[in-house]
Amino acid sequence: MGSCTFCGKAAGFLRKSHKGCKERHEIGKRQIIAIARKAGLMGGDLKNAEDEIENVAKSSYIHTPMMNRLVASGWEAAVEQAFEDGILTLQEEQKLSEFQEHFSLSRKFLDTNGAYTKIVQGAVLREILEGNIPDRINVSGQLPFNLQKNEQLVWVFEDVNYYEEKTRTRYVGGSQGVSIRIAKGLYYRTGAFKGERVQTSETIHADTGLLGVTNKHLYFSGPLKKFRIKFDKIVTFEPFSDGIGIQRDAMTAKPQSFATNDGWFTYNLITNLAQI
Ligand SMILES: [Zn+2]
Repeated sequence: MGSCTFCGKAAGFLRKSHKGCKERHEIGKRQIIAIARKAGLMGGDLKNAEDEIENVAKSSYIHTPMMNRLVASGWEAAVEQAFEDGILTLQEEQKLSEFQEHFSLSRKFLDTNGAYTKIVQGAVLREILEGNIPDRINVSGQLPFNLQKNEQLVWVFEDVNYYEEKTRTRYVGGSQGVSIRIAKGLYYRTGAFKGERVQTSETIHADTGLLGVTNKHLYFSGPLKKFRIKFDKIVTFEPFSDGIGIQRDAMTAKPQSFATNDGWFTYNLITNLAQI
């Protein structure tokens, strides 16, 4: 006779748990995520939310490490939701960070699936959309970019794959129909980034390196290629699910693209900085 993995009582021949216990456990998991999600979005009485979560955990056979993971999942769902209707607002950012503090969730823990990074990116985009140059990144060590006077570094992408086209071909990009005008800029929701980079025999993976974004230029630095491009020399930006494509304003210029693994952030960041 095995004993139930949930309540510990006899479960019956060849059984690992009672059906009722398992059901209660699964419902409890969903309830904790829902409570955390709501508290992360709406704020309110966080102590009350915490008590509620602990009660559900106790009555649903959910141990503390699992409870903490579920609370983090609820917070991640709140982050997703905060970006649904547009860019993360300052108020949303504050509520999410109050929740993080109240439940003592570490940045590393919350960034398991990239949700913490998304908050930072959202704050950077919001500042740019309001017409300001963000100053939120701390770079450790020397960067290979020779910035000009009054030039401000806004973001650095690492391990970026840089591609060049041998001929001037047209990109097949994502839909542009899901932008929202916010403050001074144009914000593209995540749904805009379904366009894949069209890989042809003409597409050359030219290098892998750092992509720096300032208020004036794009900088690329890899073992083989090092260059900068002034924003006003770029005539078109193309959104890709994993990055951005650009076309420079010169007869001889070939399409170039940068795969950062995050088309949503890269495209919103660069197109809006280029407008300031
Ligand atoms: Zn049981």
